Amino acid sequence: MLPAMVEHGGAGHIPKERAELSTIGVKEAARTGYAILQGGPDGEQPKIQCRGSVLNVMGEVEMDAMVMDGRYLDNGAVSAKVLLSMGVPEVPEESLITDYAKMRWKKNLQPDAKPVECQMGKMGTVSAVAVDKDGNIASATSTGGMINKIEGRVGDTPCVGCGGYADNNIGAVSPTGHGEAIMKVTLSRLILFHMEQGKTPEEASDLALTYMKERVDGLCGVVVVDPKGTWAARFSSLQMSWAAAQQGELHYGLYRGEHFVEPVQENI
Ligand code: ASP
Repeated sequence: MLPAMVEHGGAGHIPKERAELSTIGVKEAARTGYAILQGGPDGEQPKIQCRGSVLNVMGEVEMDAMVMDGRYLDNGAVSAKVLLSMGVPEVPEESLITDYAKMRWKKNLQPDAKPVECQMGKMGTVSAVAVDKDGNIASATSTGGMINKIEGRVGDTPCVGCGGYADNNIGAVSPTGHGEAIMKVTLSRLILFHMEQGKTPEEASDLALTYMKERVDGLCGVVVVDPKGTWAARFSSLQMSWAAAQQGELHYGLYRGEHFVEPVQENI
């Protein structure tokens, strides 16, 4: 079952014309991470292309991110080899401000706009959870936040236990969705709490997503993995692009209930 790599490319309502690209992106990211987990060439940085972010109310890019290593609770010193070995690319601001982001930003400045609902049509968050062949776990999340957010807003993403969590004894979680609602229920830690009580990653995710919807009216998606490599990609939003690589297979989907499988090497 080990190693395993699970990615998501943001939850929401993904417009038809962007759906395919979104799926291609998460599949590629899962393949790249999986190759590293399998002991891909050390020191060689895979080429990572970063493009696009949602914009704040001023039309600027302000991003949040977190990487958490599952060994953190034991010695606090190490960093997630796999996720960090994928590199922290330098990204020119122009490549983050796409025409699509500008169009969304302008539309959301109109008096009758509903930016939070519109968020469900944005593409701005990418995340991963991974477990290596020794059972070491990590979580990483990166986002432009909510569309047309107020300047200086910090969402759930960099907040431990909300926008991600990793503990080698239990598992790792990375979410996407309404940050304020995710923070209210400390979603990532809540999922791991259910797993500590014996639930599978899928059961724990569904319990926590239902709780979040009923208690604080928030929609969300998550990727989760445990130390044995059992993984889940679950969401309460309409869609979430996700992909998981394990045992030579690439699993992926976009709509609820969708689950395709192909050899991980395909199309490389
Ligand atoms: N959770 C992110 C935030 O609220 C947004 C997202 O996942 O799309 O900043």
